[in-house]
Amino acid sequence: MGELIYEGKAKQLYTTAEEGILRVAYKDDATALNGERREVFAGKGIRNNEITSLIFRYLAENGVKSHFVKQLSETEQLVREVEIIPLEVVVRNVLAGSLAKRLGRSEGEVIETPIVEFYYKDDALGDPFINDDHVLFLGAASAVEIETLKQEARKIGDVLTELFSKANITLVDFKLEFGRTKDGAILLSDEISPDTCRLWDKTTNEKLDKDVFRRNIGNLITVYDEVLTRLEEVTKHV
Ligand code: UDP
Repeated sequence: MGELIYEGKAKQLYTTAEEGILRVAYKDDATALNGERREVFAGKGIRNNEITSLIFRYLAENGVKSHFVKQLSETEQLVREVEIIPLEVVVRNVLAGSLAKRLGRSEGEVIETPIVEFYYKDDALGDPFINDDHVLFLGAASAVEIETLKQEARKIGDVLTELFSKANITLVDFKLEFGRTKDGAILLSDEISPDTCRLWDKTTNEKLDKDVFRRNIGNLITVYDEVLTRLEEVTKHV
């Protein structure tokens, strides 16, 4: 069913009979340290597909367009074909991870005005942190596109912070990817899941994301399930 055109760490992309529409299949693999550590968690693909599909549907209802067309099965989605912009757009609401390390401050400090960052998608370079001028120099995006990426990222951050908050979860930080359609429009793409977000329980600060794998501090499937159940609970009307 379709030709495999790309295989990443967590997903496969296939062509479909319909021009401009691709099928994404979510895998059970988890990687950390830029792919150096790899483990398979049975059922992870299902959770991330369900969570991403739910979030993309919720974003659409709140005026944020994405490449998402529809959920096809437990592990698959149909998406619009886009040319991926080679940038990871990270939004930070609370200090954690690489930024806490870089600034030499402890995790957990609230960032009043969310910080938007760009990382250049290049495995060989380890996805380096870059600024707007680097983006222009690399030809990764135009000046107008940079502004669109930042605006969209902040808007998505606002919508998702509120959604997760209803589920008693703090959206600490998250990573987005965007693509260009054939007519040059910019669309949110890739996935939004506990693989790509830091999620902390609002009451206990328990980590409900891939950090349980990165830091060996819990059962990945149990916490991904918890996130899915809570999101389903607060979006029952959707
Ligand atoms: N992130 C991601 N993919 C990457 C790098 C980061 O999805 O290749 C997400 C990560 O899950 C977190 C946010 O982006 O929610 C910020 O990550 P950070 O820069 O702190 O890096 P990390 O600590 O994950 O190495």
